[in-house]
Formats: sequence, structure tokens, C-alpha cells
Amino acid sequence: MFDLASRDIKYLTGVGPVRAETLNKELNIFSLRDLLYYFPYKYVDRSRIYTISELRGDMPFVQFQAEILSFETAGEGRQRRLIAHVSDGWGVADLVWFQGIKYILQRYKVHQPYLIFGRPTIYGGRIQVAHPDIDPIDDAQKLSLGMQPFYNTTEKMKRLNLNSHAVAKMITTVWQQIHGPLPETLTEELIAKHHLMSLTEALQNIHFPQSADLLRRAQVRLKFEELFYIQLHILRYTRDRQQHYRGFLFGKIGDIFNTFYHQNLPFELTGAQKRVLKEIRRDVGSGRQMNRLLQGDVGSGKTLVALMSMLMALDNGYQACLMAPTEILANQHYETIRQLLFGMEVQVELLTGSIKGKRREAILNGLLQGEVQILIGTHAVIEDTVTFHSLGFVVIDEQHRFGVEQRAKLWRKNVQPPHILVMTATPIPRTLAMTLYGDLDVSVIDELPPGRKPVATLHQFDSHRATLYRSIEKQIAAGRQVYFVFPLIQESEKIDLKNLEEGYLHICEAFPHCTICKVHGKMKPAEKEAEMQRFVSGEAQIMVATTVIEVGVNVPNASVMVIENAERFGLSQLHQLRGRVGRGADQSFCILVTGVKLTEDTRKRIEIMVRTNDGFEIAEADLKLRGPGDLEGTQQSGVAFDLKIADLARDGQILQLAREAAQEIIDLDPNGSLPAHEMLWRQLKQLRKDRPNWGDIS
Ligand code: ADP
Ligand code: MG
Repeated sequence: MFDLASRDIKYLTGVGPVRAETLNKELNIFSLRDLLYYFPYKYVDRSRIYTISELRGDMPFVQFQAEILSFETAGEGRQRRLIAHVSDGWGVADLVWFQGIKYILQRYKVHQPYLIFGRPTIYGGRIQVAHPDIDPIDDAQKLSLGMQPFYNTTEKMKRLNLNSHAVAKMITTVWQQIHGPLPETLTEELIAKHHLMSLTEALQNIHFPQSADLLRRAQVRLKFEELFYIQLHILRYTRDRQQHYRGFLFGKIGDIFNTFYHQNLPFELTGAQKRVLKEIRRDVGSGRQMNRLLQGDVGSGKTLVALMSMLMALDNGYQACLMAPTEILANQHYETIRQLLFGMEVQVELLTGSIKGKRREAILNGLLQGEVQILIGTHAVIEDTVTFHSLGFVVIDEQHRFGVEQRAKLWRKNVQPPHILVMTATPIPRTLAMTLYGDLDVSVIDELPPGRKPVATLHQFDSHRATLYRSIEKQIAAGRQVYFVFPLIQESEKIDLKNLEEGYLHICEAFPHCTICKVHGKMKPAEKEAEMQRFVSGEAQIMVATTVIEVGVNVPNASVMVIENAERFGLSQLHQLRGRVGRGADQSFCILVTGVKLTEDTRKRIEIMVRTNDGFEIAEADLKLRGPGDLEGTQQSGVAFDLKIADLARDGQILQLAREAAQEIIDLDPNGSLPAHEMLWRQLKQLRKDRPNWGDIS
């Protein structure tokens, strides 16, 4: 059979050493197989040309023919853009570029007709297409009709004339050389069971679809294959881990837990808290090492669950440890937990970077001797100098600030790895959790403690400040506290700091009788801490801040969150910020302040925020609007999947099927020895070699 993987791209007609090197470097394409797995990013149905009058704001990619009437530049700084006004005689539209303005002006001429391809939106009542593809009509006519593939190419490739058309041509050449079917990459059983296309048919139709339906089926097959192997990798890794490591067995619920439960617990647990505690109890009593992700919206009561789980460890003679991402948060946990344990003989200590000298030595010694039972801290607790007597249980709060490597470090704190509970308030959609944290079991607290009033969210235009300030006055008069948050995005830190300073002065003028504190990321930690403390203590009624307050601070008396320039925040971030209020019994408010002109995306984000408080719904919407790469936490955790075709935002169903299929294989063939599966393991091994970053998935 024709072995595509061993054929060097260099020898393909029309390629040669120079182009081959560029393909190697730019796209990681070395063999003919790599080339065939380089999929189009879009298809143009060249059989249909729309008129501008037919275009709507909710259409997918379309093409139309139009003449450029004039160019115009508008805006400044980050907002600077080039607009081309175009017309086809039936209507007018605007093409917009935020980058590459000089190039566009050189390349395209006024009064020339072009074939324009892109996604129409409505902006200011006009049809607008941002960053469209434009071809002169002459070139476009040379293209064949039907579904046409478009391939992403880079600047360096374009310099060698390796544009999308050239890639399509190379792929055509490969197909002409292939006679007969390509070797399959999935077993016959899988193909039959899931009604999948054969690999050959799928590859042919992904590049040159004979119809929209065949294209869809080709996509399903290739997405399934991609997700299936990722899942097979993750599940196999999980099984290996479970075989290698036993977990500490917490056989009993003892005095500490029971005393706490019957004497100290200040309220009834919610149903969700009880359920999660049962899940944890089952894990730690199973003899397997627990790796559990606990998701729960801000204020859902994760800390209590964490504490009670740690008490289970103590009852069985083990130590427990809770890690928080910041010093402020570690302090808060320490205070909370000490209060909750009041009157009980449990030794709890706090270890952060600022605890030094004798105090630190004493704690380290207490840990080694086993006298310290619960350690709460920041990254400081995973330093090599910290040694436990018998660490059995670890809680990590706000996972996304801790990478996979740091998690691994914890494992080595004892001969056997401790049980691990990762808590996060970032609601990670199910599809993403399954891929990112494939080896973690997931628990969800989907219920808030009783008596909480949901935060009311309002949208307010910049221009209506007077009304806004009047309602804030009322809240402050009633004894409440208020946050004003300004965006801080790295690239424009200077402008943003200026915004914050100006905003601060403005707010000082608007609220002359109030004490106002100010916090931003550029301040020294001690300074920041002191300012925060003024707000926590109630001395300041207003806090003006950047997103540094996003994680953690708990001020139940704060009832208003004003988010300035709300259009510049992502959905998850807005939701996190909103979670800072609504922690007390009073009705709280979140006010999203924006300019009057909004893009369609911003409008959608604001609308979702106003409509719902459900973190999961928001996370799903966020994933759809932004794509998984942007989702908070995925970048920091260092996980990049390099998905070639599957889309975590949209392919949840295929992912589910792929996961089940992979699980079945693992269950059926735990040692990977069934001849029928030989091909799967070989394929997996090859993929692991090709995708070194898969090692980060865990
Ligand atoms: P999270 O860490 O999930 O954001 P916390 O654990 O900080 O939430 O809990 C938020 C607040 O709710 C705390 O003041 C806590 O004491 C309170 N709380 C937790 N569980 C309950 C419950 N079952 N009933 C009433 N209040 C609760
Ligand atoms: Mg918390």
C-alpha cells in the first residue's frame, strides 16, 4: 500500500527543497500524510454570488461582487481602522480592517470590481464585513465552480507563492498519485458502529467536497478520529496512573469530623454540598488516589466542603493542606477556617512568602513532626523546604493559577501521592473539562446557600452617569460599599492606568463625602494589601480597582459592582467580577457601563450577563463566542491541543461519543493486548510522537 507518512513532501511535483523547508517550518508539514491532514479552514460555495441587498447580519460566510467606491480611515490607537465603502448597484456595504492597512491600500484600487468573501455583520445600521478576502474579478473567474477549499497560509509561504490555491493544487497532485484506498486509522468496528466514512472518502471530501452533505460527513469522521485518540491517550494515562499508585485509604469518619458537624457547623449544608462530600468520601474510601475537580460558582460554599474533606484526612491520621493563588486569599481562608474550627483542638497554620524567620522555622518543624494538621498557604507550601510528616489530602483553590507541573510537585510530598481536590469558580464547560482535565473526576456545586438574592445586572450607557451616581449614593447612604472596576489589558497598560487614575479623580469628585481606596496591579504588594484592608474593614466606602480584585476578596457588605468599559471584558471575567457582590443578605447590583456604539459581540455579551446569573450558561456562551483557546485558564495551564479539525465549542456531542468509544476500548482491553486493537495502539503511539504537547494533558 501507498505509505503517505514515509513520502517526503520535498519530492512532490512543484515543491522542491525551498518550498519544502518553508512547509516544514511554517506548518509542520513533512510528509504527504501531513499535507493531507492539513485541512481547509473554510469553503466557498462558488456557485452562489449574493447581492448586497440580500445580506443579513446573521449570515455565515458569503461572497458578493462589488466595486470599491472610496477608502476612509477612522479612529485612533487600538481603534484605528480602514474602511472601504463598496457597492454592487443593489446596495452598499463597508469593508473594515484593523490591521495591515498600508498593504490593503497598496493592493486594492478604487473603482475596481472585486469578489469579496467574508462574514457580514450589522454595524451602525450598515452591512459591514471585517477583514474580508478580496480577489480581483479576473482571478476569481479562473476558479472552478462548486465548493472550494481555502487553506490558511503564512506570510513566509505567500512570498514563495504558496497561497491557498497552491496548497489546493499540491493536494490534488497527491490524490492523482494515490490508487486505491488508504490504510484505515480506525477499526472496522468503530467505523460501522458510528456510521463513519472511510478515511479515504473522508480525506477526499474534506478537501474537495462533492456536496455539502458529504463535507459534513467527512468532518464528522475526522473530528471523531481526532477526539477519539485524545481521549484514548487520556484514559490510558489515567488507567496507568491508577495501576501504579494506590491512594491513601481513609477508612473512617472520626471524632474531628463528627465534632465539627454536630457542634461547629453554623448552618445546614446545601443539598449540593452534601452530594459532593459523599462523592469525595467515596473516593477517599476506595483505595484509589482521588483527583477531583470541584466546580462551584462564587459563593456556592466550596470552602466548607474543602474543610470537611480535610477533616476526614485528619481523622485518619493524615495532614491536609490548602493552597490559594494569592496571599490575600490564603489569609482569608486561614481566618475563615480558624473561625469555623473555633473551640476544636485542630492545629492550623498559615504559610506564605511573608512568613519568615523563627515563625517559619517553627511551622516547618511542626509539619515535619506532624503537629501541624492543616496547612494553609500560597505557592510557598510547595517549596522543597516544606516537608510533611504524612500529607494525605491537598486542596487547590482556583486551579487555573496552578499549572500541571505544580500539581505534580505536590505528589512528591509523600511516598504515595495525596488525594487532590481542585476547586474552581471558573465554570469550565463540560466538553472542555473532559479534554483538559480528562483524568479528573468532576463534582459540581450547582446550588447557592439559601437566602441569597441573585445579583441584579443592569446595562448603563456612559452618558447616563448622573442617574447611576444617584442610585449609588443611595446604597452608600444605606451603609453599603461599592466597587468600580476598570479594565487592565497588558498591551495598553499605560493608557489603562491613565483611565484608572482619571476615573479615580472623577469618582472622588462625584462622591466628595466618601472615603475611596484604589488598587491596581502595579502597586507594591504591601501597599495593595493596605488599600484592600481599608475596604475590607469598612473604612472606605468605595474601591476603585483594576481586575486584581477578581479573585477572592470577600466583603459581604459590598453590594454594588460597577464595571467600567464593560465592552472590554470577556464574559467569564464579567461573571467573576459580578461574583464579588451578592455575598450578603442584601439585594446587590452589577452595573455594566459601556459606550453607546457596540459591536454585535459586545451586545450579545451584555445581554447574556443581564439575562442570567448561571455561571455554566455563561461559560458555554463564552466558549461559543470566543472559542476555547481564549477561555480563561486554558492558556495558563499550558495545554494546547493543536486540534486540527474538532471544535470544542461546537463538537460536544462527537466528543462524548469519542470518549465513550475510547473508554470501551480501555475496559475491553486494559493491557492493550487484543490483536483487534493493535492498529489503535500503533496509531496512538505515532500521534504521541507527533504531538509532544499531549504530555501536558492531565
Ligand atoms: P466559594 O468559595 O464557593 O466562593 P465560600 O465557601 O466562600 O464560597 O462561601 C460563601 C459564603 O457562604 C461564606 O460566607 C460561607 O460561610 C457561606 N456558606 C457556605 N455554605 C453555606 C450553607 N450551606 N448555608 C449558608 N451559608 C453557607
Ligand atoms: Mg472561595
